[in-house]
Amino acid sequence: MSVHEIHWEIPKSHPRYESLKRRERLVECVSAGIATLQGLIAHGRGEAFDYLIGERTLNAAQRATEVAAELLLSARKPVISVNGNVAALAPRAVVELASLTNARIEVNLFHRTEERVRRIKELLERNGARGVLGEHATERIEGLEHPRGLVEREGIFTADVVLVAIEDGDRTEALVKMGKKVIAIDLNPLSRTARTATVTIVDDVERALKNLASEVSRIKAQAQKAETEKREKHVSSLDEILSGYDNKEVLREVLREITRRLHRLASDL
Ligand code: ATP
Repeated sequence: MSVHEIHWEIPKSHPRYESLKRRERLVECVSAGIATLQGLIAHGRGEAFDYLIGERTLNAAQRATEVAAELLLSARKPVISVNGNVAALAPRAVVELASLTNARIEVNLFHRTEERVRRIKELLERNGARGVLGEHATERIEGLEHPRGLVEREGIFTADVVLVAIEDGDRTEALVKMGKKVIAIDLNPLSRTARTATVTIVDDVERALKNLASEVSRIKAQAQKAETEKREKHVSSLDEILSGYDNKEVLREVLREITRRLHRLASDL
């Protein structure tokens, strides 16, 4: 029996029910050719950090989310990059955010196979996505050897804002070097992705995408109200949005929030 065939019925009363369900979901997605075994390891690293932050959205993550929402709304060409773990854990949240921001979705894989791209695309389509990119990746992200550097011309290659989640540091860095504003969702505030992205949301991918969608909706509702009140609508440039934002300071604040929490937990033991 392969590891994929072992399935557990998780009792709802289990204190870690949600987390165990997510693991089950990922294992199923490995069987379905959507996620990889390496993806399971990456998830484990993420879970460890989620424990440290208390499995909730930190204030610093909220601050980054507000700026990320502004970037997505002001982008000329926003793209949400989806890999196996993201597709497995949050397909609906991806589709909702894309539709709220008019962003394209591109399947972009570290361990790329055409078959896996197709399966992820189909999963996203079952969740309501349309026009998913990724199958015609003919362009290269400079500095990344084939095939993990392959992207679509219509998508990531010409995007001005790219949202990545559970991403590898090399690829994030290469996208920033190409001049893109990169929004990263990563539970590890110390990862190279977290440290090289333009805006880092240190949170679980599903929580972060849902918060981003709420924030985008809030900004859109506010803009609509302003327009009905005949106030002038000003569309900010990406650099204007980022002018008062310091991503390194947000990461420092995450580390401080974790440290404070650990001190509290240590004294309560
Ligand atoms: P880097 O190359 O950026 O230094 P890494 O080597 O840890 O980081 P990977 O293993 O490729 O990179 O990526 C996994 C990253 O995604 C890790 O930083 C991990 O903490 C994070 N991660 C895993 N699961 C989740 C999740 N559910 N939500 C958000 N982030 C996650």
